Amino acid sequence: MPATPREPDADAAFGFGRSLLSRVLVGTPVREEPLTHVADLPGRTARFVEWPDWVAEPVVAALRESGVPRPWSHQAEAASIAAAGRHVVVATGTASGKSLAYRMPILSTLAREPRATALYLAPTKALGADQLRATEELLDAAEELSSIRISGYDGDTPPEVRQWARAHARWIFTNPDMLHLALLRGHARWSRFLRNLRYVVVDECHSYRGVFGSNVALVLRRLRRLAARYGADPVFVLASATTADPGVAASRLIGAPCEQVTEDGSPHGPRTVALWEPPLLTAVTGENGAPVRRSAGSEAARIMADLVVEGARTLTFVRSRRGAELTAMGASRLLAEVDPDLADRVAAYRAGYLAEDRRALEAALADGTLLGAATTNALELGVDIAGLDAVVVAGFPGTVASFWQQAGRSGRRGEGSLVMLVARDDPLDTYLVHHPAALLDKPVEATITDPTNPYVLGPQLLCAALELPLTDDEVRAFGAWDVLSELAEQNLIRRRGHGWFVTGESRPHDALDIRGGIGTQIAIVEGETGRLLGTCDAGRAPSTLHPEAVHLHQGETYVVDELDLEAGVALVHQETPDWTTSAREVTEIAIEEVLEKRAYGAVSVGLVRVEVTHQMVGYLRRLLSGEIVDLVELEMPPQTLDTRAVMYTVTPELLMAAGLEPDRFPGSLHAAEHAAIGLLPLVATCDRWDIGGVSTALHGDTGLPTVFIYDGHPGGAGFAERGHRELVRWLTATKEAISDCECSAGCPSCVQSPKCGNGNHPLDKKGAVTVLAAVLAELTAGT
Ligand SMILES: [Zn+2]
Ligand SMILES: [Zn+2]
Repeated sequence: MPATPREPDADAAFGFGRSLLSRVLVGTPVREEPLTHVADLPGRTARFVEWPDWVAEPVVAALRESGVPRPWSHQAEAASIAAAGRHVVVATGTASGKSLAYRMPILSTLAREPRATALYLAPTKALGADQLRATEELLDAAEELSSIRISGYDGDTPPEVRQWARAHARWIFTNPDMLHLALLRGHARWSRFLRNLRYVVVDECHSYRGVFGSNVALVLRRLRRLAARYGADPVFVLASATTADPGVAASRLIGAPCEQVTEDGSPHGPRTVALWEPPLLTAVTGENGAPVRRSAGSEAARIMADLVVEGARTLTFVRSRRGAELTAMGASRLLAEVDPDLADRVAAYRAGYLAEDRRALEAALADGTLLGAATTNALELGVDIAGLDAVVVAGFPGTVASFWQQAGRSGRRGEGSLVMLVARDDPLDTYLVHHPAALLDKPVEATITDPTNPYVLGPQLLCAALELPLTDDEVRAFGAWDVLSELAEQNLIRRRGHGWFVTGESRPHDALDIRGGIGTQIAIVEGETGRLLGTCDAGRAPSTLHPEAVHLHQGETYVVDELDLEAGVALVHQETPDWTTSAREVTEIAIEEVLEKRAYGAVSVGLVRVEVTHQMVGYLRRLLSGEIVDLVELEMPPQTLDTRAVMYTVTPELLMAAGLEPDRFPGSLHAAEHAAIGLLPLVATCDRWDIGGVSTALHGDTGLPTVFIYDGHPGGAGFAERGHRELVRWLTATKEAISDCECSAGCPSCVQSPKCGNGNHPLDKKGAVTVLAAVLAELTAGT
C-alpha cells in the first residue's frame, strides 16, 4: 500500500520527522514495502492562564521557583474544580504536568489549615517515590511551606518512619495495596489522618482496569466510607492518560460523580507517525505451515540503528525485558558494522524499579551520551523522559492510551519528531496498521471495571465489615445484598444488633490480593529462594503454569518445574529458553443463564452466564521464530470457570446461502472466534489473555452454529459486557483485520491464536470472512 501523499506545504514543521523516516526507508531491503501509513500530526502551542486567585501565595512562589511561570489551562481548570470541592479527573497527554492540578489545591489547603491532610495513590511504588521526591523539593523551595510534613508509606518504609507518618504526616504517598492493608485495616491508628482528610489523589487512574481496577474501586469506596465515619468527605483528584469517557470511568472508580478536564493546554512539537508492517518471511513457517512475519523486535532493532546513525535520540518500547535486551543487542551489532563508536551508545533499559537506574538513563538520554535505548513498557509510568527525536513502538502496547503515552516521549518543542508503530504477528496489530483512524483519531477504548462482580465484591465486603460493621444501607450502597446473603449462608458474616459482623477469627485482608486474580489462587514461587513472584487463578493454572511452561514476571523469564494444584503452588526457576509453550486443551461451555438476548433475522446475540470446563491434554513447544519443536502429552484434572460470555448464533441456512458448505462451518467459526478474541481489546481495555472463546458448528444449548467469547476471570471483569455493547464495531473490525492480511490461508497476524487449545486446527480464513459478513449483514439490516 502506498504511503499517504505528502502535503507540499507541510514540510517545514515536519521536516525532521519526515527526514528520519526517509532514512529508515532507505535502509529497508528492496522489494519490501512495510510502510502502511504516514500521518503528520501538527504541534500544539501552549495555552497559559493566570494563577487562580484561590492558590495560596507561598504555593505560587514555590511553583514559580521550580520553573513554572504560570499554569497551563487544563491545570488551572482541574485545580479550580477540586478547590471548589468537586471530584475531578484530568485526562491529558504525557508530560502535560497533571501533577500541578492536584498540587495547587492540596498545598494551598495544607498551607492554610494546619491540621488538614491529603493522600496520594500511585499504581507503582516507583511512581509514588518520584512524586514524593518532587513534592519534597517543592516544599523545600519555600520557607512558608517547609513545615508541611509529608511521607511515603509503602512496603519499603521502615517501621519507625511508618509510626512517625501515622502520627504527624500531612500528606502520605502510597499505593492502593497499602491503603487496603494498612490504612483501612488499621484505621483506628489513623484516626487523626482520616478525620482531617481533605484530598485524595488517584494518579495514572487508567491503569486500574479489569479485576485489579474493580478491586481498587471497592478499596476507594471503603476509604470514603471510613472517612465519612470520622467526619471527613475528601475531594478526589484523578489523573489519567487520554481515554474515552474519562469522567465516566473515574466516577465508576470512586463511586461518586466526577467532572472531567480533557482540553490539553500544554505544548508539544509536530510529530510524524508511521505505521509499519514487517514482511512475511519466506524461509520459516509456523504452525500448520502458516507464514510468519519478521519479528517486531528485530525489525525495531534495524530501525533504531538507522535512527541512531542519524544522531536521533531514540527510545524503543518492547513487550518483554528479554525482547528489550535482544533489540538493543541487535541494534548495537548493526551499528558496529557502520561505526564502532556508535555501538556503545545503545543500551537496554533494565526494568529494575530503582530510582537511581532510572535517573541515570534519563540523564544519559537527555545529554545525548546515550542515543538509543530499548525498554519494556515498565518505563511507561512515572519516568521523566520527554523531547526525544524518535520513539519506536515494537508491537501495539495493548491500549491506545498506552500507545500515546509512549509516543508522547517524542517531540522537542517546535521541531518535528518521528513515532513508528511496528506491527507484531497479531490480528489487532494487523488491523491498526491497515486502519490508521482507529489509532490516530479519537481514542476508542474506555477503561473497564466491574465493582459489582460477586467474586470481587465478596472478599471486599468481608474487609469492609471487619473495618466497621456494615449497616443495611451500606450493603445496599455496595449493591451487595445477594453477595451478603451468600456470605451469611457460609457463616462468614452474621447480623447482630447494629449491623453485619465478620464471624470468628478470619483475616479477610490478608486473604485478598487486590492485584491478584479472584477465586482460589496458585502461588508462583521461585524454588531456590522461596520468593513469591505472584499468583494465578487456579482455573487457569493448568494451561499457563504446567511443567516447562514459560512464565514472565516484570519482564524476567522463568520456567515452571512443578505445579501442585492441591498445595496451591507452582515452583519456577529463572531461565531464558529459546522456546515457548502453548497448552492443548479440551474446552466445553454451558449456558447457565441468559442475561440479555436479541434476534436479528437469522442471527441471535446474547450476553450469558456460562460455565466453562477446560481440560489440559498436552502442550506444544515452539521456537521464538515460530517453528515447532515438539508436542508433549500431559493430562491435568478438568477445571471449571463460572463467568460471563457474549455469544452469537447463526442458522445453517444463512451460512449455506452465503456459500459455505456444512463441512466448512467448524473451521470458519473457529477462525472468526480467534480473530474476535484478538480484536476485543480494540473496544475494551483487556488483553487477549484475559478472554477466551469457544466455537462450535452445533452447540447443545442453542442447537445452532454458535460462537462464544468469554471473560477469563471468575464472575467476569466487564469485558464480555463491553463486547456485547460494541458488537457491530468489534465484529466489523474483526472481519477487516482478517481480510487485510496478505497471507493466503491464515497466519498469526489474522486467524491463528497463540493460545488455541486445539492446535489452530481447523481454521478457514476465507470462511471466517463469509461468516462475519453474513452476521453483520443481519445485525445491521434495517439500521
Ligand atoms: Zn494472515
Ligand atoms: Zn482455537
